[in-house]
Amino acid sequence: MATVDDREIARAWEFLETHLLAWRPEWQAGMVEHARIVRDTALFLGRIHPGREEIDLGILELGAILHDVGRCRAKRTVEHGVAGGAMIREARFPEGAARIGERHMGVGIDRAEALRLGLPDQDFLPETVEERIVCYADNLLSYLPDESRHELRDTAAVIARFTAELGEVYGGRTRAFMLGVEQEIGASGMDRFRQYVVQVNGELLRKSEGKKMKKCIFCDIADGKGGVTLVYEDDHCVAFHDINPQAPIHILVIPRVHLDSLNAMDTGPHGLANHLLAAVGKIADRLGLASEGYRTVINTGANGGQTVFHLHVHLLGGRAMHWPPG
Ligand code: AMP
Ligand code: ZN
Repeated sequence: MATVDDREIARAWEFLETHLLAWRPEWQAGMVEHARIVRDTALFLGRIHPGREEIDLGILELGAILHDVGRCRAKRTVEHGVAGGAMIREARFPEGAARIGERHMGVGIDRAEALRLGLPDQDFLPETVEERIVCYADNLLSYLPDESRHELRDTAAVIARFTAELGEVYGGRTRAFMLGVEQEIGASGMDRFRQYVVQVNGELLRKSEGKKMKKCIFCDIADGKGGVTLVYEDDHCVAFHDINPQAPIHILVIPRVHLDSLNAMDTGPHGLANHLLAAVGKIADRLGLASEGYRTVINTGANGGQTVFHLHVHLLGGRAMHWPPG
């Protein structure tokens, strides 16, 4: 069953990213990563589920992407499901996605708890298979702050966490919910899912180790540790003179965040490309280059002649440039 097209999925990502950026820009990347892993995990489960013919994978995907968007509006964390449902409806996404947002918290909130928590007088329990799968996937995913990375845990860890945080009764409901979903998926499906979890966790670990090793000479310069005078800096990028200038004025403009090259641009924070290029224009203007003109160059990889693998824009001016470039 497919009721949701690619444009709607793209709009959901855009909606999530925009709201996160306006709310907590420093959390955006981590929360988008969370949504991405929940989305992938939920889709995997949806595809191996014995009732997959009846599952609306589009609704499942939209709900997984948007399940936490309500955090941007909720005054209290416990309200983020209700707030998310409202935001998803207002943005005219399908009702099924709004319900996932509303009902995904923990293993759901029953009517008595909803009243006690000051939520609308109704229950917020995951009911449909799409709602239960997103809820299940979201529960497994946990953030390890010491290692700055996400990891998929197992059901025992989920039960232990909810029991510790919310008491024995909720722990018991957690057990019933999680095991119920697993029973539905069946033993052979769960074998495949456990292999999937091992594979995803391996990828998440490698990715975080990769990131840690990526501190480079330009990262040091951006951190003010390179002994280099910055000619410009803002929250997202810095600029300095190239040590081996190829023109009377030769500035390098770099993002503070480490990205190997333009190839990694789409893994960086939302809006970075825009910001970086706007900064280049601003710097050119400040250096008096705007009216006479200048050259901007981004070298990528071996054929591009890239020698420092931290994305940078060359800003060259003060003389007429040749064309075509060599
Ligand atoms: P690319 O060939 O596009 O990777 O450009 C790297 C640029 O970084 C070259 O123009 C180098 O001269 C310049 N560069 C390398 N190390 C430093 C440094 N410590 N300070 C300033 N510029 C540097
Ligand atoms: Zn770097």
